[in-house]
Order: sequence, then structure tokens, then C-alpha cells
Amino acid sequence: MTDRRNDIPETLVRRRALAEGVSRPVVTPIQPSVVYASPSIDMLHAQYEGREKGYTYAREGHPNATLLAEKIDAMEGAEGGIVLGSGMAAVTAALMGVLGAGDHVIGGSQLYGRSLRLMHQDLARFGIATSLADPTDTGAFRAAIRPETKMILVEVVSNPTLRVADMEGIARVAKEAGVLLAVDNTFTTPRAWRPLEHGADIVIHSVTKLLAGHSDVTLGWVAAKDATVARKIYDFSVTVGFTPSPYECWLAERGLYTFPLRYDRAEANAAMLADHLAGHPKIARVLYPGRDDHPDRARVKALLGGRTGNMVSFEIAGDGAAANRMVMAAPQLPFAPTLGDVGTTLSHPASSSHRALTPEGRAALGISDGFFRVSVGIEEIELLKADFDQALAAV
Ligand code: PLP
Repeated sequence: MTDRRNDIPETLVRRRALAEGVSRPVVTPIQPSVVYASPSIDMLHAQYEGREKGYTYAREGHPNATLLAEKIDAMEGAEGGIVLGSGMAAVTAALMGVLGAGDHVIGGSQLYGRSLRLMHQDLARFGIATSLADPTDTGAFRAAIRPETKMILVEVVSNPTLRVADMEGIARVAKEAGVLLAVDNTFTTPRAWRPLEHGADIVIHSVTKLLAGHSDVTLGWVAAKDATVARKIYDFSVTVGFTPSPYECWLAERGLYTFPLRYDRAEANAAMLADHLAGHPKIARVLYPGRDDHPDRARVKALLGGRTGNMVSFEIAGDGAAANRMVMAAPQLPFAPTLGDVGTTLSHPASSSHRALTPEGRAALGISDGFFRVSVGIEEIELLKADFDQALAAV
């Protein structure tokens, strides 16, 4: 008899579809395949020419990314959005897929730190000039426009000072100047603001944050109104390999099912926590777009239709040492530089997002060593108030 112990049985290497019978799974399957087999050369041509639908290679697209992108498209009122490997991949693709040497882009002066770094350090290396303007001051954007300006990139609510941009004014400036308006809608989310309905040409998300919502995936999404612009962003992303993982797309899609519930609950909690903190003797000031003492309150009401978000910032009546004691006094409040998790997280911009600035630079933005930013989660509000009271007792 032949010894077959070293043979590789055919059943081991031949791929087979999963048996499902007449019923179907309720939950979205994960499709990890990197390659897709086409039935014929003619069909492959048809796929590449857009006459037939079908995937070829996962870096160019895969079903879990498509499903997630279509769901975010629906929330944003967009078409043909794409999911990428991180929020920064989405910001980078929007800028570098569209702009070239000799072009100029204007950014909001309070953009996310890595977006600012990308603009100043990386775009500059590729011959793309950048300027910054205060997004609460439309005149500053108008003044920054140059003949070679091609794009404006802004966030609606700034981090961590929670100022609200004059979106209507900035959209007018972009339209008058014929430049693309790109909006990073991560903080606001389509629950509060849908940029494409207000003059934006490109919308960006860090899906990592509120949309996915559980701090267990890093993903981004970007969509453009104009098909040529969208194609440039897609081609650049595929070339540089900003591919999202099917597993992460699957997790984010699962997170989306509860996004509206999480958002509403976190927002209601944020409003109550902001009022609680404002009445606390150890607090010097509270910044929350839903409070009447917020510097952009009128704009919040006009723009965001009653939505005020889940982010609260505050300053303690104390210095850096008191801030450190506060963090240590309530370890149940994760001290983590992120936002949008189901649970409340606390961040300290002076030691994280804004640590590269000088103390004077931070002071100009209103960020002292006693300044905190809270991403409010969906906990019971009384529990949350008690956690903060416990933390503040150490100030
Ligand atoms: N945009 C904003 C407003 C952010 O807050 C962040 C991250 O904090 C990003 C983009 C980058 O997203 P990611 O961390 O998914 O790359």
C-alpha cells in the first residue's frame, strides 16, 4: 500500500463556499478574501470597464468596505464615498489626491493636530502651500484666498475649545472663489450637521470616533460631490494603499446600528454634565455649545438645529499639579486622548494634542494646564456626576 501521509489532500486546498442551505445568516458576513476570481477574461474586462459589478483585489475595494461606505453615504446624503484605513488616511486622500505642486490650501486654525502637521510639514514638501484662518472669522478666510487657492479644509467644532465655525460664511467664500470646500465632520457627525447640504464639496470622517463608537477600530471615510474629484481621491487611496481591513469595516458597521441611540444619549448626558460642572466650586469655566454662556451660542442654534454634541471642555480652578491629582483621583474615568467611545473619556490637551505648542501658544488658544476635554459617553448621568465630583475633590 502507498504511504499517503505526506500527500496534501485536494479537499484541503480547494476553496469551497460555505454551506448555508435555504436559510441565510442575519448578521453581515466578513469577507476576508484579498483576491476575487472572475469567470472569464471577457467578464474581467467588463468589470474593469464598469459594465459588470465585481471585485478584483481587496486594495481596490471589498464588500465589507462597500457596505460600510454606503451606510455612511446614506447618513451624510453622499454618493460613492469610500472607507479608508484611518481618519488621517481620509484627510490625506482628500488633500493629496486632489492638490498638486503650486496649489494653495487654507485650513481652519484649530484643525485636528495631525491634519495641521500634514498641511504644514508634508504638503509643503510636495510644493503645496498652506495658510491657516480662524474658522469663526469668515473675513480671515476671504483674506487668505490667493489665485492658486484650490481648497479650504475646516472642522465645524474645534478641538478642544469647542468653538463653532461660521460654516455658512466659509461656504460662501469657497463658492465665490471657486475653491473646493472640504469639511471634517468627525465631531459634529451627520446627526448634527450634513456638510453636503450646506455647500461642502468633500466630507471626511474619522470613523474611529463616534460612528464606530467602541474604540476598537481605526477607520476613515471620505466622499466628494463631483465624480472627477471623487475618482482622484479613490485612485490616490488605492495607489498609496489606504485600504481598510474587512474585519474593522465589519466592526464599524456593527457599531453604526446603535450610532443614533449612542449619539442622542451621549449628547443628553453632555448637556447635564456641563451644567453640573458649571455649578461646581472647583471649576473655573465650562465650554459646551449647548450652554447660553458659550461664545458661539447664537451660531450653534442657527447651524446645528438644537444639536450640541457630546464634547464638554472645562478648566479647573487649579494648576497642572491639581490637574494631575484630579486624573489620579478617579481612575474609573479613562484618561485617554480620544473621543466618541461608548464610555466617557477624559483628555488633557496641554499634555497630549497640544503638547508641541509653547505655553504661550496654548494660552493664546485658551488651553491652560488645568484645561480638560471630556468625550461624554452613555453611562447613567448620576454615576458620571459622582465620578467627576470624586475627581474634582482632589483639586
Ligand atoms: N479628524 C478629527 C477631527 C480627529 O479628531 C481625528 C482623530 O482624533 C482625526 C481626524 C484622525 O482620525 P484617525 O485617528 O482615525 O486617523
